[in-house]
Amino acid sequence: MSAQREWFEKDYYAVLGVPQSATEKELSRAYKKLAKQHHPDANQGNAAAEERFKEISAAYDILGDKTKRAEYDEVRQMVASGVGPDGAGGFGPGGFGGAGGGRTFRFDTDGGGLGDIFGNLFGGGGGRRRGRTATGPQRGRDLETELHLQFEDAIRGVTSTVRFRADATCSTCAGSGAAPGTMPETCPECHGAGTIADNQGPFSFSQVCPTCGGRGQVIPTPCPTCNGSGVEVRAREVKVRIPAGVADAQRIRVKGRGGAGANGGQPGDLFVVVHVREHALFARSGNDLTLRLPVTFPEAALGADIKVPTLDAQVTVRIPPGTPSGKVLRVRGKGVAADGNGNGGDLLVTVDVQVPSDLTGAQREAVEALAVVLDGDPRDALDAAAQDRRKRDGD
Ligand SMILES: [Zn+2]
Ligand SMILES: [Zn+2]
Repeated sequence: MSAQREWFEKDYYAVLGVPQSATEKELSRAYKKLAKQHHPDANQGNAAAEERFKEISAAYDILGDKTKRAEYDEVRQMVASGVGPDGAGGFGPGGFGGAGGGRTFRFDTDGGGLGDIFGNLFGGGGGRRRGRTATGPQRGRDLETELHLQFEDAIRGVTSTVRFRADATCSTCAGSGAAPGTMPETCPECHGAGTIADNQGPFSFSQVCPTCGGRGQVIPTPCPTCNGSGVEVRAREVKVRIPAGVADAQRIRVKGRGGAGANGGQPGDLFVVVHVREHALFARSGNDLTLRLPVTFPEAALGADIKVPTLDAQVTVRIPPGTPSGKVLRVRGKGVAADGNGNGGDLLVTVDVQVPSDLTGAQREAVEALAVVLDGDPRDALDAAAQDRRKRDGD
């Protein structure tokens, strides 16, 4: 990171031995004199002179160009006052690396000095970061599978196992993509960086490495199972906790049990669509269970204690005397099991008074005797309505 500060702290005016107020002519004169003095041709084998010559060239490359010089001056000014070029303060990767930060520094990358420095600045930080976005960790796909549940299991909740075929981390190579006994190797082209230099423009200092696709590694001997992808389609089993009261067609999300992620990415989620089988006796109404209870006329008329089934043990339901057909009786706490918020359900018992279809002689006599003693007309209300209508339409 010291290379970052170096560029801004390097005083190119001092390198050329001129004041900051130097005119273009003075700069040009100073450069020519120094360049001649330190030129490699005149200093064979003198490494220090060669270094100095590079510095002089870099300095004049900036100061000899009006636009570059103005920007250089401005950056120096900001460095001196402790403000980053994006106003955020500091020249860290966040402060300067943000190419969208408003300011652009248009320096050519040829001519040595600056190109190298910018290479350090962006190629090492921002460039590789960009490469990682392109080919970096990718979240696995979300998957969907189906689960058929018994009615009771949907009411009570159950832990079940779903089986399906889907992308999974390769079982042969554990996702590395390399054949057993071999290892992925550092990419020979980018040396593991995943990006390579690209000198097409001042801010495109790196591109995704074409040899390794940005992974930074190559696989000399691909895994025979997954052909190097690290992912194989195989049968999977996932345990799913089904909450009490799950409804038919409901989707249950199982976090992280979907498709395998690529390049170290998170796996996707698994969605389990629940199908609930019907029950011979019970049905659902929200969190309540419903049950039709056949009773005889004497039971409905006289009242009775009747044993009814629930999903657990039988319970006794008291039918009050004079219970009409269709009356709903509530058995508390015998529906969907209560959750943490107390949102359980009840068993709703609908009374269904039975009418015998084939009467024996004795039964017929008994019913006829009942008819004689019954008083009151159940259709009084209907008669009253009919009379009203006759009155209205009357005369
Ligand atoms: Zn494999
Ligand atoms: Zn590479």
